[in-house]
Amino acid sequence: MEKIVADMHIHTKYSFDSSLKIKHILAKMEDLGAKYIALTDHVEFKNQPVNEVIRRITVRNQKIDELQKGTDITIIKGIEVSEPHLYPAGMEALANVEDIDYIIGSIHHICDASMKKMAEFTDAVTLYLESMLSMVTSSDIDTLAHLDYIKKYLTEFNPDPELIESILREIIKRNIALEINTSGMRRAGEYFPGEGILDMYKDFGGKHITYGSDAHKIDELGDNIAKAHEELKPYDFEEGIILKRGFKKL
Ligand SMILES: [Zn+2]
Ligand SMILES: [Zn+2]
Repeated sequence: MEKIVADMHIHTKYSFDSSLKIKHILAKMEDLGAKYIALTDHVEFKNQPVNEVIRRITVRNQKIDELQKGTDITIIKGIEVSEPHLYPAGMEALANVEDIDYIIGSIHHICDASMKKMAEFTDAVTLYLESMLSMVTSSDIDTLAHLDYIKKYLTEFNPDPELIESILREIIKRNIALEINTSGMRRAGEYFPGEGILDMYKDFGGKHITYGSDAHKIDELGDNIAKAHEELKPYDFEEGIILKRGFKKL
């Protein structure tokens, strides 16, 4: 079985699209030899009122505190926020939840509609990347998730290189890590982001990366992380985790 150090993107039953129990995640990750896991449940202000989001995350964090006592794995209290730049009031409320250790920023919708529905529209990729640029320019996030995730819905993915460059330069400037989302391997045959974007990140001086399986099922935990770690060695990126909202090199 492949050994991994950290999986920084996992969904539990506190996400609308996962039924994974934290204790089952811990058992599996102990088998994989992990030292750190980040539970990064969805926050979608589009679909849930702010007070309910806060309540759900607070209950989950209490559960994590309980389970943390019985394991050597460090459990990082993360969230994955959809389009945080569109919900300043929600983000402000989250900033007051003291024990959130890690915030992933994601684009899951285009013009308020699901990506699945919109992706094949002519300018969908541009709208998606423009929204991402707004997010990384203005939101308080630690990691940019699955940069080219939209490609899983497309037969061809030809993004505007200038937009990709702006996004990468902005995350480097603002010290936001780039996620290597290994679910890309099962969803699109390559990581999110793929090689071309990783080359650009390297060229512009990008260093910080985190690995995440984006698991929603038990078999997806840690999926392809050991493999990615090997394959990406030539880039010489700094692999790390986010703890207490700061990047820590592994
Ligand atoms: Zn996501
Ligand atoms: Zn996710």
